[in-house]
Amino acid sequence: MLSFSSADSPATSYLNSHPMESSRILNSLVEIVKTVEGAASNNPIDEIINSQVLRRLLSATYFRDIDTLKHSRRVGLISVGIGSRLGWESGDLRLIEVASLLHDIGKIGIPDHLLHKPGKLSPDEADYITTHHRVAVELLQACRVNPDLIDIVAQAHGVDFETNLQNHEIVLSLGARILAVSDAYEALTSAKPYRPAFSEKDALDILHDQSEKNFDRNVVAALERWLKSGEAAVLDDESAAEAAVRANAPVSDTAKANMGSICQLFQYLHFLDGLYDAFYIVDESRRVVTWSAGAARLFGFPAVDLIGHPWHRSIVASSTGKDDPIEIAFTEAKPQCHSLKLKDDEGTDREFDVQAVPIFNDNGKVVAVAELVCDGNQSKKHRGQFRKLQLAATHDALTGLVNRGELDEKIKQVFSKWEEEPTIPFSIVFLDIDHFKSINDQLSHAVGDRVLVDIARFIQDELYSGEIVGRYGGEEFVILCPETPLETALERADRVRRAIMNAKIASREELSVTASFGVSQVEIGDTPESVIKRADQALYDAKKSGRNKTCHRATRQLKELPNFGREEINKQWVHRVEIVTCVASSMLPTKLKGYVHDNMAKIIHVKEDALLLQVGAPGLFGGWGSKPDRQPLQIHIEFHDIPKNDKVAGTQKVLLKTTVEPVGRPSKNSIFQTRAMLVVESLRSYLIAD
Ligand code: GH3
Ligand code: MG
Ligand code: MG
Repeated sequence: MLSFSSADSPATSYLNSHPMESSRILNSLVEIVKTVEGAASNNPIDEIINSQVLRRLLSATYFRDIDTLKHSRRVGLISVGIGSRLGWESGDLRLIEVASLLHDIGKIGIPDHLLHKPGKLSPDEADYITTHHRVAVELLQACRVNPDLIDIVAQAHGVDFETNLQNHEIVLSLGARILAVSDAYEALTSAKPYRPAFSEKDALDILHDQSEKNFDRNVVAALERWLKSGEAAVLDDESAAEAAVRANAPVSDTAKANMGSICQLFQYLHFLDGLYDAFYIVDESRRVVTWSAGAARLFGFPAVDLIGHPWHRSIVASSTGKDDPIEIAFTEAKPQCHSLKLKDDEGTDREFDVQAVPIFNDNGKVVAVAELVCDGNQSKKHRGQFRKLQLAATHDALTGLVNRGELDEKIKQVFSKWEEEPTIPFSIVFLDIDHFKSINDQLSHAVGDRVLVDIARFIQDELYSGEIVGRYGGEEFVILCPETPLETALERADRVRRAIMNAKIASREELSVTASFGVSQVEIGDTPESVIKRADQALYDAKKSGRNKTCHRATRQLKELPNFGREEINKQWVHRVEIVTCVASSMLPTKLKGYVHDNMAKIIHVKEDALLLQVGAPGLFGGWGSKPDRQPLQIHIEFHDIPKNDKVAGTQKVLLKTTVEPVGRPSKNSIFQTRAMLVVESLRSYLIAD
C-alpha cells in the first residue's frame, strides 16, 4: 500500500484562531493548493496526485476513522488485483489503487453520529453524505488531481455532480466499475454491526447475481480469477495491514492539528455547497483555485476547464464593469456585496447576489478571494419543492419511470454524443404490451395499472447500468441503450421479452402477460426521431407477425454498419490545413522522420502519396487527459506536387493536405482545435513550410 510517515508540516493557524473563521479555513485550502503548484518530483505518484496531498488526506482519514482507512486499503488491494487480471499496466494500476484509497474521503467531514449510525440512514441523511462526497471531489479538483482519478472517485458514489445525472443514467468508466466491484466485495466480506461477514463464495454469488444490473460481469469474473490465483493472500496478512494503516497515523500534535483543520475544511466546504448556488476562489495571481459543482452547473463550465487557469469576470458575467468586486476585495481587504447579472448555462441573464470574501494568510495579507453566489430571488429551501416539481415533470407518476418528454431529451443527448463519436452506435428498444386492453376489460383498470407497474420493474431489473427505460405512452415503453450495437440490443430486448413472459405479474398465477418488441440502431442520416420511428415500425412488424416477438429494422445491411465513416457526419471534430513546403520531395521523408521521432508519433499507415500518424496515446478511461500526450490525434497527410512554374527557378513545392482528428473523446471542440493547431504548427516547423 502507498504509505507515508505522518503529516508534520506546521499546523498553520488552526490552533490560534476561532474554529469557524472563514478566512483561515479557506486559507488552509489555498495553502494546500500552493504546495501542489510548487511541487516537482520524479515520484510517479505525483503524476496522479501530489504525494504530500495524498499523505495528508490518508492521514486525515486515519484521524477521522481508522476503519474507513482499513477498508480503503483493502479495496485498493482488490482493485489492483482485478486490474492486473484485466491486463493493466503499472501506471493504471497505481491510478486505480489511489482512487480506491480515496474513494471514501468524503467521510472525513461527516459527524460521528452519522458515520457510525447503527441503523439505516434516512433519505435526508443519505443525501447529506452524498453532498460530502461532492465536497471531496471539489477538493481533489482544487488539488489538480488527475481527472481520470477524479472521475472514478466521483462515480463511486452514484452521481455525476456537475450534471446531477445518476449513475444509471451515465456510462461508467472501467475504473469506476472495478472500484464498484472491489468496494462491494470488501464490504460484503467484512462483518458489520448488523450482520456477520459473508464468505468469499457467498459474496461472489451475490456479485454474480447482480452482475446484470449493478456490476460488470467481466470485472466480477476477473475478481474471481484473482481470488483463486493465491495472490489474494495479501488480504489476510494482518501485520502488513496494521503496518500500512499505522504509517498514516498523525503522530505529533502539529500533525493532529493539521488533520483537524482538514476535517474543518471539509465541513466548511460542505456548508458553502449547501448554502450557495455556486462558489469559487481566485488567488493572488488571478487564477481559479476552486470551482464548485454548483458553479459548473450554473455557468456550464466543468471544473477541469477552469482550475489553474486565469480568472476573468466574463467567465460568469455577461456585462463586466470596471469595478470588479474581486479586485476591490483584493485591494481593500474587505468583503464586497454586489448584485450581478450572470449568464446561466443557457446564456440567459439572471440577477444574483454575490459576496466577494477576502482570504488572509497568517500575516494578514489577502492571498485569495472567494466569491459566493446565490440567486437573490429564490430561497434554497424552496428548491426542494422545485426539485419535486421537476421530478413530477420528468417522471411518470404511475410507474416512477422517466416520462416521454424526459426520455426524448435523453435520446437527444445520447444522439449528440454519438455525433461526436459515431463509431459507437446506440440502440432503441420499443415495446408494447400485447392485448392490454383485454386485461383492463376483463380484470379491471386497477389490475391493468398493477401490470404496468410490474412490467416497469421487470424491465428495470433486466437493464445494464447506463441504460434508461421510460414510459412512452399508455402501455408502451422505450429502452435507450447507449453504446450498444443492434445485435446486442436485440439480445437484450429478447431477454426482457422472455423475462416478462415467464414472470408472475400482478401476483396472479393465471395472468399471462406478453409484450412485443421492436429494435433499431442509429444510422447515418438519422435524427433522434427517425431512430425511434424505426424501432416503432419494427414493433409493428412484431405485432403483425403474431405478437410476443422481437423484430428489428435497419436501412442497411448490419455488416455494413460498423464501417460508416466518421468524417462524413462529424465535420466539427476535424481540423484541416493545407501546408506548402519548399522541402524537396526526396527530403520530405527525412524531415517527417524527425517529427515522428521527436514527438514519439506512431506511424499507422504509409502509402506512396499519403501518411497516417498518431501522436499521444488514449487514456485507459476513454476521455482526453489534461496533458498533450494524453490528447491523442490522428494526422492524415496527403502529398501533392505543385506544378512548377517554368519561369521561376527554385525547388519543386509540395502541398500537404493535412487532416487532424481526435482519437477518443475531447471534452470540448475548442480544446481539440487548439491541440490540433499546435500539432500542425509543430509539423510546419519541421517542414520549413509557409
Ligand atoms: P396490442 O397487442 O395490439 O398492443 O393490443 P392492446 O390492447 O394492447 O392495444 P390498444 O392500443 O388497443 O389498447 C391499449 C389500452 O391501454 C387502451 C388504454 O385504455 C389502456 N391504457 C392506457 N394507459 C393506461 C393506464 O395508465 N392504465 C390502464 N389500466 N390502462 C391504460
Ligand atoms: Mg398493446
Ligand atoms: Mg399500444
